[in-house]
Amino acid sequence: MSDDNVTPMMAQYLEIKAQYADAILFYRMGDFYEMFFDDAVAAAEALDIALTKRGFHLGEAIPMCGVPVVAAEGHLLSLIRKGFRVAIAEQMEDPAEAKKRGSKSVVRRDVVRLVTPGTLTEDSLLEARRHNFLCAYAEVREDSALAWTDISTGELRVMPCPRARLSPELARLAPREVLVSENAAGDLRALIEDLGAAVTTMARAAYDSTGAEKRLCALWQVGTLDAFGSFERAELAAMGALVEYLDLTQRGKLPLLRAPQREALGGAMQIDAATRRNLEITAALSGGRAGSLLEAVDRTVTAGGARLLERRLSSPSRDLGQIRARHDAVELLLDQATLREDLREALRRVPDMDRALSRLALDRGGPRDLAAIRNGLSQAALIADQIAGVGSDLLASAAQGLRGNDDLISLLEQSLVDEPPLLARDGGFIAGGFDPELDDTRRLRDEGRGVIAGMQADYIERTGIQSLKIKHNNVLGYFIETTATHADKMLAPPLNEMFIHRQTTANQVRFTTVELSALETRILNAGNHALEIEKRHFATLRAAVLAAAGPVGLAAAGLAEIDVSASFADLAAAEDWVRPQVDASHAFTVISGRHAVVERALRRQGGAAFVANDCALTEDRTPAIWLLTGPNMAGKSTFLRQNALIALLAQAGAFVPARAAHIGLVSQLFSRVGAADDLARGRSTFMVEMVETAAILNQADDRALVILDEIGRGTATYDGLSIAWATLEHLHDVNRCRALFATHYHEMTALAGELTGVENATVAVKEWEGEVIFLHEVRRGAADRSYGVQVARLAGLPPAVIDRAKVVLEALEAGERAGGGKQKALIDDLPLFRAAPPPAPAVVKKESPIEARLREVQPDDLTPMEALKLIYEMKQAL
Ligand code: ADP
Repeated sequence: MSDDNVTPMMAQYLEIKAQYADAILFYRMGDFYEMFFDDAVAAAEALDIALTKRGFHLGEAIPMCGVPVVAAEGHLLSLIRKGFRVAIAEQMEDPAEAKKRGSKSVVRRDVVRLVTPGTLTEDSLLEARRHNFLCAYAEVREDSALAWTDISTGELRVMPCPRARLSPELARLAPREVLVSENAAGDLRALIEDLGAAVTTMARAAYDSTGAEKRLCALWQVGTLDAFGSFERAELAAMGALVEYLDLTQRGKLPLLRAPQREALGGAMQIDAATRRNLEITAALSGGRAGSLLEAVDRTVTAGGARLLERRLSSPSRDLGQIRARHDAVELLLDQATLREDLREALRRVPDMDRALSRLALDRGGPRDLAAIRNGLSQAALIADQIAGVGSDLLASAAQGLRGNDDLISLLEQSLVDEPPLLARDGGFIAGGFDPELDDTRRLRDEGRGVIAGMQADYIERTGIQSLKIKHNNVLGYFIETTATHADKMLAPPLNEMFIHRQTTANQVRFTTVELSALETRILNAGNHALEIEKRHFATLRAAVLAAAGPVGLAAAGLAEIDVSASFADLAAAEDWVRPQVDASHAFTVISGRHAVVERALRRQGGAAFVANDCALTEDRTPAIWLLTGPNMAGKSTFLRQNALIALLAQAGAFVPARAAHIGLVSQLFSRVGAADDLARGRSTFMVEMVETAAILNQADDRALVILDEIGRGTATYDGLSIAWATLEHLHDVNRCRALFATHYHEMTALAGELTGVENATVAVKEWEGEVIFLHEVRRGAADRSYGVQVARLAGLPPAVIDRAKVVLEALEAGERAGGGKQKALIDDLPLFRAAPPPAPAVVKKESPIEARLREVQPDDLTPMEALKLIYEMKQAL
């Protein structure tokens, strides 16, 4: 689309831009990335940088803004965080090349990379301790599947995923970006965006499962994918779309994708998005990591370990063998404190090999990444020695992956300096002694003067001219200089065969030699040459590391596993946590359980200690439900959540905050809070609460653990009570699961008498001089009253309101006693609320003479003498 008014550069810009319409184009011009037109307007606002103008296009001034290349990463991050995608167009040739083609020709440019939220690799753009997942969801006829990768570590996983499971699985992975097919329905997009991920639409062709299979085979250089497992069409399509997208965004440089691992649907404890949010597993309700379970338990010392821990907590296992193996490892490291400390000390020096490897694969790595692999592998070998022969299958198999890279280690040790620079183009990373040619070259560069001095001595000897000198100036470069008196000798045979005359000045004559000009060129080029040699070595070393990508990845995985085990052991030692017994029963017994996060918070505040509580949903009974009553602020929610978290920690492979715990495998974990606590989410909160409750009642099986906190609170009393009532009955009769149900509807305690699986429990409070004291102790039995009025006073409600509330309460309670059933009492007495007389005015008691007298007195006007008199007077009147 060329236009006569369009400059060649602008034509090139527009051509590139047309291919990346949905991204901001960073157009490289010398030391800047420039943006034009709408991109410039949007970026200038997003980055808060100046918007200027440059030239005209179709008669209009072109808006422009730019960022310096050296500062580009920070700006890139801001744009990505604000939801933009950025295409980076680099200059693909030296501007001098372009000039040779003619004065009008523009430097060739091309997009080298499309940066999107799910495809980041730079350390500065990533959180070291978190994964950055990119997902692809595919539907092929009846089947659907989800594939995901973290290109910064190369991990690739896939599993069949019915549409109904998509939300919980995405909630588990918390991806930054999700790929969907262009014919995906709008509600699918809404679902993904709701979970906070960017949605990227791919052409249908990208999802073609046959093409995908071919592409995947080519990628891993295998004839068939059978070696990795058998995949459904939808799974192939999802993986194919991922690879296609990576190809697109990385412009043909595919990241190092590991062989796909197939996850079984149902291999992990199922936890839906609402439950995750509510239990604050990896993020607190406020959004950050602070205040989450993850933050409270994270004692890992490596980035890889931290990421594995996040994965563990996000998807606790349902495999008893796996859970026990993890507990065995933790127990062993808990018992062997010295070993644990030594391991953690060694782990602290382990760099992030996964990410270094991935950058190297994408050709975005540098010498520092090579050093990370070197240091990581040699630490891994040390750590393997430390755990040699310990009696834990898990640690033993992790240790296996740590060895066997000796050749690569010694290559990297010999070739690299201790602390290499970040970028290969800076040079200086290859160690001395590794390559004689490089050593010579560097010597030439660094010791050029010394070499020249040697040459001068040699020439003096050959010519016998003691005053001969080798000098340097900017015009001639290096030259040999003698005084005019010696010139004749130099100009005559045999010396004139060697010394070439260059210049004669008043007193001096200057020469050069073939040898000297060669040396000069070498000195001048030595710097560049050394760099070239280093770059060549970098390429070889990079190739050597990539060739060992499999074993390096194994070592990184082993280190992460050991780090997580040791960190759980460290936590158990420091916080006095115990090994839970997890088995195939339906037990749920926790003795002296605590809430990991609340306990920590209380300790930090330095206030009251956390009160440990038991929870015993007995083993031989399914269903097994505790109905928990007690006033607000008593600790009901805390108790509910602490038990859910204990189950989650146990199956994640950790020890738990309790004196003992026996947990029959939990398949699904559900947690819901009554709407009043969930105001943050704009929609009709009661509706949300009911939709979420429905999801539990429709899904929970007899291995589920359900935590319901004040369900039904978000509506009128009777509606709420009825809903809570029916929900509990359904859990008991239909779902037959283990549940903890907190409510302030005391009427419900009657259910315990009717439903065999329901028991009452209450959080104890003490009343003292009309005040309520929270003991935070959970006991069997129903709460005798709610203490709502007392709690309201604690909250600072005006005394008149509190007094009035007491009157109303008493009337209600009296009505209840007189009228029999509580329900009826409430209904009969309800008008009392509206018909109630206004608070009776305080009864005016008749005043005593002394009081009357005192009322008249104006103390300010009294002299001391008058005051004394007054006291006598009043004393008399007594
Ligand atoms: P409820 O759900 O009954 O309204 P919460 O569980 O929200 O009460 O607890 C209210 C506060 O009481 C919490 O913020 C916490 O600080 C404190 N608390 C709760 N449980 C305990 C406990 N077992 N030991 C000490 N303090 C507790």
